[in-house]
Amino acid sequence: MANASADMIEVRLPDGSVRQVPTHTTPREIAEQIGAGLARAALAARVNGQVVDLNRPLDHDVELEIITERSPGALDVLRHSAAHILATAVRSIRPEAKIGFGPAIQDGFYYDFEVDRPFTPEELEAIEQRMQEVVKCNDPFERQVVTKEEARRLFADDPLKLERLEELGDDEVITVYRNGPFLDLCRGPHVPATGYLKHFKLLSTAGAYWRGDEKRQMLQRIYGTAWFSQKDLEEYLHRLEEAKRRDHRKLGRELGLYSVHDEAGRGLIHWHPRGGLIRYTIEEYLRRTLLANGYDLVFTPHVANEELYRISGHIPTFVDNMFGPIEVEDETYRLKPMNCPNHIMIFRSEPRSYRDLPLRYAELGTCYRYERSGVLHGMMRVRGFTQDDAHIFCRQDQIGPEANALLDLVDIMMATFGYAYRVFLSTRPEKAIGDPAVYDAATEQLRQVLVARGVDYNVDEGGGAFYGPKIDIALVDALGREWQGPTIQLDFMLPERFQLEYTGADNKPHRPVMIHRTLLGSMERFVGGLIEHYGGAFPTWLAPEQVRVLPITDDVRDSAAAFVAELKAAGLRGTLDDRSETLGYRIREAETMKIPYMAVIGAREAEAGTVAVRERGAGRKQDIMPREEFVARLRAEVEARTLNVPGLA
Ligand SMILES: [Zn+2]
Ligand SMILES: [Zn+2]
Repeated sequence: MANASADMIEVRLPDGSVRQVPTHTTPREIAEQIGAGLARAALAARVNGQVVDLNRPLDHDVELEIITERSPGALDVLRHSAAHILATAVRSIRPEAKIGFGPAIQDGFYYDFEVDRPFTPEELEAIEQRMQEVVKCNDPFERQVVTKEEARRLFADDPLKLERLEELGDDEVITVYRNGPFLDLCRGPHVPATGYLKHFKLLSTAGAYWRGDEKRQMLQRIYGTAWFSQKDLEEYLHRLEEAKRRDHRKLGRELGLYSVHDEAGRGLIHWHPRGGLIRYTIEEYLRRTLLANGYDLVFTPHVANEELYRISGHIPTFVDNMFGPIEVEDETYRLKPMNCPNHIMIFRSEPRSYRDLPLRYAELGTCYRYERSGVLHGMMRVRGFTQDDAHIFCRQDQIGPEANALLDLVDIMMATFGYAYRVFLSTRPEKAIGDPAVYDAATEQLRQVLVARGVDYNVDEGGGAFYGPKIDIALVDALGREWQGPTIQLDFMLPERFQLEYTGADNKPHRPVMIHRTLLGSMERFVGGLIEHYGGAFPTWLAPEQVRVLPITDDVRDSAAAFVAELKAAGLRGTLDDRSETLGYRIREAETMKIPYMAVIGAREAEAGTVAVRERGAGRKQDIMPREEFVARLRAEVEARTLNVPGLA
C-alpha cells in the first residue's frame, strides 16, 4: 500500500500490526506510543533484523521490534555499552591510554588498551569504582555520523583507531559515539545511557596482541561481565569460581594427570601414570565397544608422503596447519594431520563389492596440527592429539542405517560419561560440490533418522561442509557449558578424489560414500573435558586409584597389605598408604586426590576380616563391611561403569 503522504512511513510490529508514523520517528517514540511500561523497558530496537539505537530515526517502511532485557541479543548491547563505560573510566584514570577494540563476548565484554605498564589489581578496583561514577552520571550514548576526514581529526591521538578507520571503505557510514567525556569510533548500537548498566564486575586483565597478531604490539585487555539482575551476576560469578576450581590445567597438575613442557614442544601432552590409566581405561572400553559394533581396528603411520595430501586436496588448503615438510631421499613427507587418506589407502588396497559394504575402519590415530602458540590451551587446544576416529565406506542407501547406528553409539557414550547433549543437522551450503540432488537426498536420510528416533534437533541451514551434510552433537557438561562433541560428517569429495569404487549388484563400478565420524573427539580434549565435568572426581571405573587402604597402626600393616593384594587379584586398583603420618593426615590427602574409596583397617577390622569404608563425598560416614562384600560391591560398580561422581545429576 502506498503511503498516504511522502512524510509518513509504515512500521510493522512483531504482532503483525502496522503503524503509520511521520518519517524520522524514533523507535523510542514508537515504544512510548505503545505504552509507558515498554518505553521504560526499551534498550534498543531491531529494525529489519538489524539492532540499532533506540533514538535512531526511521526514514523508510520497516519491521520493528523493541528490544528489552528478555530479547535475544539484549545482553550483547548492554555488555558492549559496558565496554565503553570501562574505557571511559580507564581514560579518566590513565589519560594516556590508547584505545583498541571493546566488544561484547560470551558472558561479558572486554576492552583493549595500549598503556606503558599493565593494570594492577588495585587499579582494576579503582577503575570499577570509577565506572560506578560514570554509571551514576547517566550520560546518554550519542551517535554521530562523520566523514573520514572528521574522524581522522577526532582520533588524531588514537593510532589504533586510526588504523581501523583507514580500513573502512569509502562508501561505509562512519559513526562515532560519545558518552560524557568519552568518544569512540564505533558502529553501535548501545543502551540509551550509561545509567542502564547496573550489575557488572571487572574480572581480570591479560596481555593481548593488537588484532591477535604476535608481530604487533602487546595491549592490555580488561575483562568484565554485565547482567540485567544482581541474581544473574551472582550466579555467573559462582559458575566462574566453579569453573576455576575445576580447571583441568589446575586439577591435571594437582592430581598428577599430565604435563606440558616448553623444552619438549608446546601443545604436546605428556600423560603421567595416573592420566595414562584414565586414558587406557577409556580406550579399552571404546575399542571393545567398537569391535562389538561391527568396526575393524586399523593402525596407520604418523608420517606420510606429501603426495597423499595433494590427492586429498589438503595441500594447498590445509598446508598452514601441517607440520613439515620433511625431506627424505627425493621425497617430501608431512606429519599426519588427519587419518582419512590413510584409511582410504586400506579401502583401496583390494577390489570391493557391494556385499562388502559398509566397511568401518576405526583408529585411535595420533595426528599433529600446527596451532599458533597464542591459542594453545592445556589439553583443549594442542598440537599433537589422538583422535577417536573412524571412516565408514558405504553405499548411498546405507547412509540412513549407518547414521542410526552411529547415534546409538553416541547415546551409549554420552550416557556412560554422563553428558547431556544437543543435536544439530547442517544442510547444503551454496558452494556445495557435485549433484545438489545427491547432497539433499543424503541430508534427507539423516533428517529421517533423527525424526524416527524422536530426537529434538536444530537445523543449521546451509551450514554443511561443501563436500557433504553432517550431524554435530554438542555436549552439555556439569556446569551447563557446551562443548564440541561427536560428529557424523558425510563426504562425497574424497571418494571422488581417490577414485574409490565398489562393484554393484549390476556388476558395474560405483562410488561409495564416506562417513567421517568421531564419538569422543581427541583423547586429549575429551579427558580434559572430563576432568572439568567431574571436577577431578572420576567415577570408580575410570579412577586411576580406586581404593586407598589405610592401616591405623603398624600392627595391622600386613593385614592391610594382604587386602591390597586381594583388590588387585580382583582386578581393582588399590594402593597401600602405610606412611607414619597420622590417620587424619592420610585421609585428608586421599580426599584431596579425590579417590572414590578409602578402606581403613584397625585392630578390630583386621581381626574380623572387615574394612571401614569411607566413600568420597560422604564426609566422615564409615561403613564397616566384610572384605569380600566390599570387593564384590566395587567390582559390580566398575562393571556397570556407575557414575558415582559427587554433584553430578
Ligand atoms: Zn560501541
Ligand atoms: Zn576423516
